[in-house]
Amino acid sequence: MKIYCFCPKCKKETSINCKYETKTRFLMHQGEATLIICDNCMVKTKVDNKNFFAKESKIRLLIAFLILLAGTPLVYFLIKDYISNSSIKIIGLIAIPSFIYSIFRKEELNRVRTFNNG
Ligand SMILES: [Zn+2]
Repeated sequence: MKIYCFCPKCKKETSINCKYETKTRFLMHQGEATLIICDNCMVKTKVDNKNFFAKESKIRLLIAFLILLAGTPLVYFLIKDYISNSSIKIIGLIAIPSFIYSIFRKEELNRVRTFNNG
């Protein structure tokens, strides 16, 4: 997953790939500092490993949102022959993709929290 820090030179946010799930593990294996190449100013600098943090991935949230968008007609297709009551149909249409979206969102928040607190 990606973890973030602020570039010491340009003060903008930049990211690196991290294979550790918690910050403790990251610090344990990575030592005191990591050499990064800033995404903005392209300068190579060392960043104190304590300054790295995880945050919600925009791509993951986008995927979750697409599931929500694509899920709605899919749910409609799946339930239209089984449920004749239209109000239940509407509830199902809204509730099922929202439920999937919220699970996805929760997982993502959990991942971020695990890294930042652990
Ligand atoms: Zn920079």
